[in-house]
Amino acid sequence: MSTSFPHHKYYSLRSPNNVGRRHHRRFPALVHCSATSTAKAKQKADQLVIEPRPLTPPPIAKTPDRPSIKDPDLLSTWPHRSWVASGCTTVLISLLKCATGSAHSHMWLEPVLAGLFGYVLADLGSGVYHWGIDNYGDASTPVFGSQIEAFQGHHKWPWTITRRQFANNLHALARAVTFTVLPLDLVFNDPVVHGFVWVCSGCIMFSQQFHAWAHGTKSRLPPLVVALQDAGLLVSRSQHAAHHHAPYNSNYCIVSGVWNEFLDENKVFEALEMILFFQLGVRPRSWSEPSFGWIEEIETPSQTTVY
Ligand SMILES: [Zn+2]
Ligand SMILES: [Zn+2]
Repeated sequence: MSTSFPHHKYYSLRSPNNVGRRHHRRFPALVHCSATSTAKAKQKADQLVIEPRPLTPPPIAKTPDRPSIKDPDLLSTWPHRSWVASGCTTVLISLLKCATGSAHSHMWLEPVLAGLFGYVLADLGSGVYHWGIDNYGDASTPVFGSQIEAFQGHHKWPWTITRRQFANNLHALARAVTFTVLPLDLVFNDPVVHGFVWVCSGCIMFSQQFHAWAHGTKSRLPPLVVALQDAGLLVSRSQHAAHHHAPYNSNYCIVSGVWNEFLDENKVFEALEMILFFQLGVRPRSWSEPSFGWIEEIETPSQTTVY
């Protein structure tokens, strides 16, 4: 080893055999290196290759302050409820247009198939969105900043989602659904179009509720929810639990979770991360985890007894 490294610099560290392997995706990981050595290293296939290439530190989003069980941030407000009401209204109009259009045209199979397509696509959409806000941007990011901050807090304190009130949990997606579905309600009358729209938008809007149920305990969840989770129609508790464990880069989908295995086995998000890194130089947070900000804080007894 003859390389002498200055203190307190970042170096990229990679293993030629481990790049891209599941659970070894810290590429390019950062090493806070203060070593000094004199012999020249021989690069063998199994050895780590240390490249003295300075890297900028990863974009660690600010973790919100620790919430308390009576935190007002967990409560629903009237604006939250209004957005959920408007989102549900636009989805119900779409459902109504689908049903009446199908009745008039005596066409049922196509709207049902379109609905199934919407259900499957909503799961993929939830995964892409979740991956994006878990890995990029911070609280100051336009439009998505509050969602990014909320998901950072969710990784630090996953239990808060089970204490968060319904409208508080859903209002951000309900607002997006309102603005997206309302124009579609006004423009289209086709039952097939609305078969897709109401199921897809409804699943996306309620994905945060499905997510909350995935954090629930079996004994406290409604039996129907447990049955749907066990049947794979809603994201299961065990599948989502894997998302909250190192390396924090799998199982992003939170509607049914049907896409998770395909996306993780084929490293789809890892490929997207590499493309974004090499094209734009942006590093996802998951390459640098676990950081302090994503290590889960366990719920204390006082937090479990107060509602
Ligand atoms: Zn996440
Ligand atoms: Zn979660």
